[in-house]
Amino acid sequence: MASGKTIIDDTECKGCELCIAFCPRHRIGLGTTINEKGYIPAKLISNSDVKNCTGCALCAVVCPELAITVFRGKGTDPEAPND
Ligand code: SF4
Ligand code: SF4
Repeated sequence: MASGKTIIDDTECKGCELCIAFCPRHRIGLGTTINEKGYIPAKLISNSDVKNCTGCALCAVVCPELAITVFRGKGTDPEAPND
């Protein structure tokens, strides 16, 4: 299984929740704080109940704000904390 690491730029996120709806691994949820633009940004969920990110990049493709970057391939550590 491919592995990936996703980074969400919470300063660009407008909280539209598209990435949450599209992530097949259910790794993304809404955060609990408000960003400087007044939105509640998406946040990576990282716990033992959630399967690893595959690096599929669906979240990045659907994001209208280009706020998501996905790294994948050899050397990507799926266990590394997402932030
Ligand atoms: S790259 Fe795929 S599996 Fe990883 S967080 Fe984005 S949509 Fe989910
Ligand atoms: S799709 Fe982009 S703008 Fe919408 S909640 Fe996800 S990161 Fe934020």
